[in-house]
Amino acid sequence: MTQTPDTAAAPAPGLSRRSLFRSAGAVAAVGAVAGGVPALAAGPLGSGGPGSVEPLKLARVWAVTRAQQKSLVGFDDTHNVFEDGSIEVLLWPGDLARLKATGLRFEITVPDLIARDRGLSAGVRTVAVQPGETSTGDYRTLADYEADMRALAKKHPTKAKLIELPHKTLEGRTVYGLEICTNVNSYDGRPVFYQDGCHHAREWPASEVPIMWAFDLLENYSKDKRIKAIVDNVRSIIVPVVNVDGYNYSRSFPPVETGEVAGVTNPLPPEALVGGGQGRYIRKNRRPVMSTHVSEGLGVAENRKPVQSDGYLGVDPNRNYAYKWGDDVAGSSPTNYDATYRGTDPFSEQESKNVAHVLKTCHATAMITHHTSGDLLLWAWGDTRDDAPDNDVLEGLGRAMAVYNGYRPQKSIDLYVTTGTTSDYAYGALGSIGYTFEHAGSSFHPPYADTVPAMYEKNRVALMLLAIYGCIAPERRPAFPLEPDAAIELRDMKITSKKLNHSIITGRAVDRRGRGVKATLTITKTFDTDLWLEGEQNPLGQKTYREFLDTRMVTGSDGEFEWHVNPSTRPALTAARKTEAYVLAITGPKGVGVSRRLVVKRGQRIDLGTVVVD
Ligand SMILES: [Zn+2]
Repeated sequence: MTQTPDTAAAPAPGLSRRSLFRSAGAVAAVGAVAGGVPALAAGPLGSGGPGSVEPLKLARVWAVTRAQQKSLVGFDDTHNVFEDGSIEVLLWPGDLARLKATGLRFEITVPDLIARDRGLSAGVRTVAVQPGETSTGDYRTLADYEADMRALAKKHPTKAKLIELPHKTLEGRTVYGLEICTNVNSYDGRPVFYQDGCHHAREWPASEVPIMWAFDLLENYSKDKRIKAIVDNVRSIIVPVVNVDGYNYSRSFPPVETGEVAGVTNPLPPEALVGGGQGRYIRKNRRPVMSTHVSEGLGVAENRKPVQSDGYLGVDPNRNYAYKWGDDVAGSSPTNYDATYRGTDPFSEQESKNVAHVLKTCHATAMITHHTSGDLLLWAWGDTRDDAPDNDVLEGLGRAMAVYNGYRPQKSIDLYVTTGTTSDYAYGALGSIGYTFEHAGSSFHPPYADTVPAMYEKNRVALMLLAIYGCIAPERRPAFPLEPDAAIELRDMKITSKKLNHSIITGRAVDRRGRGVKATLTITKTFDTDLWLEGEQNPLGQKTYREFLDTRMVTGSDGEFEWHVNPSTRPALTAARKTEAYVLAITGPKGVGVSRRLVVKRGQRIDLGTVVVD
């Protein structure tokens, strides 16, 4: 059953349809609607007082069959899964009635989430100080992230470089990232390890992991041989906060005990109506007023037209990537107020466009997108239980990493069905060995002190493992003694320290006299990413989305090159026993060069020998 306003949101008696809106902004929208329902006063923050909104609740829901799970699409899943397979859902105002309407068995486990979190104490920290811990003992603000990245780039000018992503956000912000490796300004074909955080606004710990990785690499370069090998051989790219507008909103929303909304840096009128500190729990980006937005691209049947609203509703950036985008059965929602609203088009959102830009201008042979919560480690696919063609690598490295961080390793779909996600896109469209990590136990952003240091400590060796096995050529890997259980996981999937898990192209550019020359290499590919096709025709009325890969490297003056790349053929074509080629161009200093089509497989090394250019 799809979550359309006319079906799934069938109101319980006494509830208007508008009162069933289910996001922080949607709550605001309820208040902003003229007539119909009484406006919600901001009221005393916290729960229960007169005029306050219905408090956020956690519910445990028993949804066993696929049909039952589908009836939960659009609810705000926390990723917590209980031993018996029942799942945890965050209930926004109005959701309790909707949940009752599904007929599913459920119990309310936390009647007031804000109050529960207020009662969480920081507890006793159990680990030593970790690289990049904040001096405040609290989560970084958005400004802190920018300041830290700038400071690292300034302090380590040959090893760290601040990057600006091309698409400014809806609120006009620039998204920043950091590249880290020795000779960081030299694009010499090294493999890339990409990590990001906070596609989802409230998932604060998710951004701490990539920034702490940056500190770890730069501070421990001369202290840890594994770190040194990674910095010497791998370009780490981090984008700690992808959804900067959402993160800034969530992070700067006053905690409930401040008692009032004053102090929010961007107090937009509707937010004043988000009572009880619930604004800290928003998930999506800050796209406002979906009423005009939705009418442009969907073209859906009348009975599926999303509800129009004047409030903030947002798009889920982690359902907006092109790969399998457009599922409105289970993996994402076509409805603008749903938690998993996918947007009007693939890459309609600045957040997903920025990440795709990074991924399509380099060869990220390995990547992790960080989220909370649930302590899970997920790999392809999100939409089918079929093994990916590279499942041995994905599962082997995934299970080995999980030995270190203790998370539950599984295919993404074993959590729930997803489409249009970051890691499926990175793997399915571009061939990266990609993962989604869900951190922080059972909360989206528990107290920093006993969460973040311990989280980083148990993840850092997992990250090293992926950087080493997913990026560094076997002959350059540092000594990396494995925990016995991790060694077993790798061996079970036939991953050895000698096995290359991506692809390498080598050769030497020379002039007509055979002397090495500095050359520029480009790898490009035009390709059509598969949108969602099962069930009904996807709403765009097209089956694929045209994309362009555009990557480059520059040799030294000796003309030697060793380019670490992803396989040229996408997994779906590999599974169908087809191939797909890159266009490789090599150009000399005078602009004269050669171009050829090249098919390269995972694990393959291709030596082009000497290539004459001018
Ligand atoms: Zn998330």
